[in-house]
Amino acid sequence: MAKKVYVNKDDCTSCSLCADTLPNYFRLDSDDLAESHNNGANVNDANVPDEDIAKVQDTINDCPGECIHWKE
Ligand code: SF4
Repeated sequence: MAKKVYVNKDDCTSCSLCADTLPNYFRLDSDDLAESHNNGANVNDANVPDEDIAKVQDTINDCPGECIHWKE
């Protein structure tokens, strides 16, 4: 089942790993804090279809701020 992903900006280190790895799902805002998106829409409320859940999970695991989360 598709899931939604967001970034807790309070803990983001601005490393850009997520935006560099998965630019379709993550970008940096004007303060260099990451947020999720779908082609610029659904900001910090991005839909992730089943086929991309594993690679988003990899980025969640690699995020140094541990600040990317699935919405329950
Ligand atoms: S990988 Fe984590 S810490 Fe780095 S920019 Fe993305 S959300 Fe921020």
